[in-house]
Amino acid sequence: MIRVLINGYKGKMGSESVLAVEKESDLELVDRTDQGDDLKARIESSKVDVVVDFTEPSCAMNNTKIIAESNAGGVIGTTGFQQSELDELRNVCANKSPGLLIAPNFSISAILLMKLSVIASQHMPDVEIIELHHPKKKDAPSGTAVKTAELISESQGKATVPRGTSDDRALGELHFGIPVHSVRLPGFLAHQEVIFGGEGQSLSIRQDSYNRTCFMPGVVLGIRKVMENPGLTYGLEHFLFND
Ligand code: NAD
Repeated sequence: MIRVLINGYKGKMGSESVLAVEKESDLELVDRTDQGDDLKARIESSKVDVVVDFTEPSCAMNNTKIIAESNAGGVIGTTGFQQSELDELRNVCANKSPGLLIAPNFSISAILLMKLSVIASQHMPDVEIIELHHPKKKDAPSGTAVKTAELISESQGKATVPRGTSDDRALGELHFGIPVHSVRLPGFLAHQEVIFGGEGQSLSIRQDSYNRTCFMPGVVLGIRKVMENPGLTYGLEHFLFND
């Protein structure tokens, strides 16, 4: 039985994680904490194996350091880590077991979309990305769209239409050389389509997240995998694929 503590349990992702952990027969929810609780003391007193953290960017590093310096492993979904902070955490938990997973995206379909897009771009390099989200989303384009563009560009994907005219604005914003189009509309949660064009053919790869439960299979997988993977892992894809 893996003993789990959820930090940020009153929030949207934390409360979903509570339900997800309670459903699994090999996981036991032994404690839950939120703002104002002494995380370090509770990890020790509850003797937890893994802490799941969905809090907020302003306290992400502080919480994650407390977890990294404890005997427990960590599954961190809170966003907003700087590269220097990731480097510091890698040092703090080198060889630590159970390890620490920091995953900016726990949606398995979103990770598969990126993986499949990289494969497709090796054969169909002309590509554009459309991402669609709810109107309250603060950033545009989404982090997942930019990450997808980066991965595709490393594998030779490119924009088709030449740039440099006043019409460029309507052609999407270039990220890593690939046009990204953002749509913000009520009714959507988080969706992305990657469209590849070729001679007489096209290929669309689309991913849709309908609600926050889409993240939970990834969180549960992360909890199990940090038990057997020491040190820092950045990105759930490392627990999904062998390469
Ligand atoms: P939320 O605002 O609904 O919940 C945040 C919770 O954290 C609240 O209950 C709040 O009281 C608590 N909190 C704040 N400061 C704290 C502290 N110092 N210690 C303990 N608890 C504290 O937010 P949310 O929608 O649940 O998102 C939480 C985080 O997860 C955000 O950073 C968000 O971007 C991220 N997120 C990640 C993924 C992913 O796949 N990795 C998916 C969705 C959201």
